Amino acid sequence: MTLVDTHCHLNIMQAESNLEEIIENAIQNDIDRIMVPGIDLESSLEAIKIAEKFEIVYAAIGYHPNHVNSWNENSFSILQDLSQHPKVKAIGEIGLDFYRDHSPKSIQLHAFTEQLKLSESTGLPVIIHSRDAFTEIFDILIKWQQTRNSTEPDRYLGILHAFEGNLEQAHLITKHRFLLGIGGPITYKNSYDTQEIAMKIPIESILLETDSPFLSPHPRRGKTNEPANIKFIAEKIAHLREKPLKWVSEVTSKNANKIFAWEQ
Ligand SMILES: [Zn+2]
Repeated sequence: MTLVDTHCHLNIMQAESNLEEIIENAIQNDIDRIMVPGIDLESSLEAIKIAEKFEIVYAAIGYHPNHVNSWNENSFSILQDLSQHPKVKAIGEIGLDFYRDHSPKSIQLHAFTEQLKLSESTGLPVIIHSRDAFTEIFDILIKWQQTRNSTEPDRYLGILHAFEGNLEQAHLITKHRFLLGIGGPITYKNSYDTQEIAMKIPIESILLETDSPFLSPHPRRGKTNEPANIKFIAEKIAHLREKPLKWVSEVTSKNANKIFAWEQ
């Protein structure tokens, strides 16, 4: 059995955390790939550095909506250069966050649409962060998808990480060639929406993610999260769908390979 953690911030873990140990623990827990997204330039470079060091780690590069104040006229071409690295497999995490509101809406929108263009020019999928911004994100992504229809109709375009919409929106966005990242909150008692989505959306549209070091799943809630905990998320989905764990791990790993194309 193999599992994939499609969203894990090994690049922004606390200083005292031991990456060797975290990776070893992940391997002991059947994880064979980890995707580390950037949140700004520095963390994107760090993601690449970690990916160079550990075989099972891959990198995404990009500016998170809470960090777009450092986005400038050179950012696009710097990211474009970095995207040539063989272990860079996505643009992310990018998106909109109107909950924390660290940056003005106009700057968030500018950096987000620029990075969508970067995805188009590099052919890499996007990893999307959306918080209290689903309507805006949804509109932008559907329009973006429509402009890309003719050239590459079979490709997944991106991932809605820590999906915040309802079941109806989940159906719609997955029909438009996006996948949904399901993480630790699915194991929490009150997460009925996420549980319903994980039960009813075709499994081909689901990816597993820890979002480490945040959002530890039950029974590790309150502790620092790490990729090894992906098994609790996979077990919860298996339980909800009344399927074997092996089936969840196989299909979601296949989904991850399909979007990130790491086996090329
Ligand atoms: Zn993240």
